[in-house]
Amino acid sequence: MLMGRRINSEVLIVGGGPVGLTLAIDLAQRGVEVTIAEMRTGGEASSVRCNHVAARTMETFRRLGIVRVVRNAGLPSDYPNDVVIRTTATGIELSRISMPCRAERYTAKNGPDTWWPTPEPPARLNQIYLEPILFAQAATTPLLRIMSRTRVVDFEQSEVGVRATVEDLEMGGVSEIFASYLVGCDGAHSEVRHKMGAKYTGDTVVMQTQSTYFRAPQLLAMIPRPAWLSISLNPRCNGYLFAIDGRERWLIHNWRPPAEDLASLDRDLCIRRILGVDFSFKFDILGKEDWTGRRMIADRFRDRRVFLCGDAAHIWVPFAGYGMNAGIADAMNLSWMLAGVIKGWAAPEILNAYEIERLPVTEQVSRYAMNTCIAGIAMNSVVPGNIEEAGPAGDATRARIGKQAYELNVGQVCCGGLNFGYFYKNSPIIAYDGEDAPGFTIYDFSQSTVPGCRTPHLWLRDGRSLYDALGAGFTLLRFDPAVQVGGLVTAAALRGVPVVVLDVDADDAASLYPQKLVLSRPDVHVAWRGDKLPEDPLALMDRVRGVSPGR
Ligand SMILES: Cc1cc2nc3c(=O)[nH]c(=O)nc-3n(C[C@H](O)[C@H](O)[C@H](O)COP(=O)(O)OP(=O)(O)OC[C@H]3O[C@@H](n4cnc5c(N)ncnc54)[C@H](O)[C@@H]3O)c2cc1C
Repeated sequence: MLMGRRINSEVLIVGGGPVGLTLAIDLAQRGVEVTIAEMRTGGEASSVRCNHVAARTMETFRRLGIVRVVRNAGLPSDYPNDVVIRTTATGIELSRISMPCRAERYTAKNGPDTWWPTPEPPARLNQIYLEPILFAQAATTPLLRIMSRTRVVDFEQSEVGVRATVEDLEMGGVSEIFASYLVGCDGAHSEVRHKMGAKYTGDTVVMQTQSTYFRAPQLLAMIPRPAWLSISLNPRCNGYLFAIDGRERWLIHNWRPPAEDLASLDRDLCIRRILGVDFSFKFDILGKEDWTGRRMIADRFRDRRVFLCGDAAHIWVPFAGYGMNAGIADAMNLSWMLAGVIKGWAAPEILNAYEIERLPVTEQVSRYAMNTCIAGIAMNSVVPGNIEEAGPAGDATRARIGKQAYELNVGQVCCGGLNFGYFYKNSPIIAYDGEDAPGFTIYDFSQSTVPGCRTPHLWLRDGRSLYDALGAGFTLLRFDPAVQVGGLVTAAALRGVPVVVLDVDADDAASLYPQKLVLSRPDVHVAWRGDKLPEDPLALMDRVRGVSPGR
């Protein structure tokens, strides 16, 4: 039955998960009229999944004005954010990756993730807390419409726009939404991906997992030194235990090899073995899921006016905690380009850069996550039988396994390289200058102004973060006020490109920024650098706004 409603919107986002909501807030803040169609009821929490809001995502939330509320959610402020490796969750400690609790997050030093050059370190926070915050922000953002209990059932596109058919899941009936662009943020089973003819390719089975969300008020007191994540390593059953509320709610992942038949696993027994408790221990199961871990990337992220972001475009095993975070990075890459085209200062060709920039990066992240997963499962299968024995032989085993587990896991839980190391190569909208970007590992990276890299962060002499001083559009960072930049300002004005000039006064400037000028994009990546303006500033403006040279 047709409800007869016809809704117009500049952008239609299919799916109001963390990626769709963040994209919508960013677009609306850029002045774009945006509609989210979401099947769930308004503000309904997701299932208990992502436990890590990455520093890079927190930088985005800082720019969007919601970082404080995100930071304050989840675990109590003094609850340890450490990762501990134990024989069981209540057993002998083998090693510990120290990470500051929320109260000390901005001030802590000497930790494996406290050295990062960022105004916003990561937050150890479950998705069940994050999504309602994003929803509340979206619901009060001007230009943003949320259609809850609404399913996008079909769409077709023409040269001028996209027409989507949506179904009202409460009242029945269908409406039509006309939009200039549609973005599928509709998760791993994305209908948008299927309809646009893109295919997931990759590794269809990396591991099997039995996940259980449960309530056990007495568990916290049984753990000698609590942690955000406890990794159990013993010869019986291994897995991860996440603290969800820091009091009584917990999530267990029982990681199993790819060929394991989960149906034959005794869930109750496995949970008790991971926790190290006997049959008298009581817990209430709040949710359970058996699932296959995969590594799949869509072969295309775009079909003309239709785009994919987040799990719709890529999924991988949740090692390194970077699925949602990579999806939010997709959204921040696409958002300013879409806004530029809709506002008229960017050429439609700029949108080609989205897939060129993001697809290789997600492929890279997916491999880091999968490799950590494979190494972790291999380690599970060879835990020595004497790991819980008293005496020197047991001590030696515990020291060895504890060290190995530390080294394997510090990279994934302190994944600085995934946050700050990646860069965009071969992009048509970046003015490269021949220097290669520095390499990075899952853990390590160095800041660089090589075009394509994240704009290096530093603290200004007035105490502000450089990122708080950036404009909403492009920012021309100037490190020598004597350098003339009028030509670029004029070129930007001629083309309508939003560019502000920022004279940077910072102690670290000389070491981090060897050139006197750096053009930072709206998504805080370097578009161009030099000691003086290029001969033809208009050509540079055209490049960064998607007009091919020579056109
Ligand atoms: C066990 C586990 C642990 C994880 N841990 C982490 C972690 O630590 N860090 C991390 O970064 N990631 C983690 N992830 C991944 C993370 O949960 C996902 O990457 C994230 O939820 C993806 O967000 P999304 O918005 O792309 O998709 P989703 O969260 O799947 O949201 C998609 C939305 O689209 C809606 N929808 C679907 N189809 C339609 C339609 N036709 N019309 C309207 N609405 C529609 C759905 O209702 C849903 O709300 C984990 C995942 C799992 C399974």
